[in-house]
Amino acid sequence: MTLLQVQNLSVTYPAPTGAVQAVRDVSLDVARGEVLGIVGESGCGKSTLAAALINLLAPGARVTQGAIRLNGTDILTLPKPAQRALRGRSMAMVFQDPMTAFNPVLTIGSQLADFAGAHDPSRAAPALLSAMLARVGIPDPKACLNRYPHELSGGMRQRVAIAAALLMQPDVLIADEPTTALDVTMEAQIIHLLRDLRTTFDGAIVIVTHHLGVIAELCDRVAVMYAGEVVEDGPADAIFHAPQHPYTRALLACDPAVVEPSTGRLPTIGGRIPDLANLPPGCAFLPRCALALPECRTPVPRHRPAPDRSVLCHRGTA
Ligand code: ADP
Ligand code: MG
Repeated sequence: MTLLQVQNLSVTYPAPTGAVQAVRDVSLDVARGEVLGIVGESGCGKSTLAAALINLLAPGARVTQGAIRLNGTDILTLPKPAQRALRGRSMAMVFQDPMTAFNPVLTIGSQLADFAGAHDPSRAAPALLSAMLARVGIPDPKACLNRYPHELSGGMRQRVAIAAALLMQPDVLIADEPTTALDVTMEAQIIHLLRDLRTTFDGAIVIVTHHLGVIAELCDRVAVMYAGEVVEDGPADAIFHAPQHPYTRALLACDPAVVEPSTGRLPTIGGRIPDLANLPPGCAFLPRCALALPECRTPVPRHRPAPDRSVLCHRGTA
């Protein structure tokens, strides 16, 4: 059953040159127990989509169309207090920089207790908090409750942030580049932790990343974003082994694991993402696309090569 459903969502930010169209007509379904990965270059709208999912858009951001349904309820039309109650309890978020999630002058224990207590005081008991810290792999969790955020390493802080997100047993966990600020070793550990959590967490996970390894290790499904749109989505295996959209193919070719055999260099996608305040009428990837056709200057149809896949490209499927 669909737990989280995004339907035709568009989000803009005001700008002097016209609205920045950060998210454009995005539709996605995530079932209970499923992990959805969102990939794409920087500036393609991933964080805006993630923030919209949890009703935490920046001031000025405007949802111009669409719905986000959690268990069938459109969270965008709920009154503000109901939105706040949902956040943390039914939906929780883990950010890129775990430091921003904490108050530097309060201990980990008091912050977790405040957070849990705001929703349900019975969950703020120290024994429950340290059990949650143990679950995310914090050694000596009781001692950790008395520490301040700066006393922990980045990796440990991110573990605590994940523990905080899981305290209320949310239905949906959203993680926006949760490993990007960490070094390679810490990153591997957090990926490992998230993979472990999958076995005990029965909600849905949406993970934003530009790291294809994270997708390969964690995700059931992938949505590829380019210039605010989901240009391709489908099962992770299918996206990896039979990418259809020229942008997906280019992204996969950029994976650091793929090294150009003749030169030994990493491939990169030439060109840049377009100005989201001044988009062309046709395909936004056209100027960078090696496979462009004359019709790519006209509005792009969405093809469905399989019931669980979609591709936004004039070529349809390759
Ligand atoms: P990503 O996470 O994929 O890098 P973002 O969602 O952060 O993409 O950004 C998408 C577009 O929205 C970019 O053009 C970015 O400059 C713009 N944007 C993001 N946040 C804001 C904001 N708070 N105010 C104005 N523009 C923003
Ligand atoms: Mg981002």
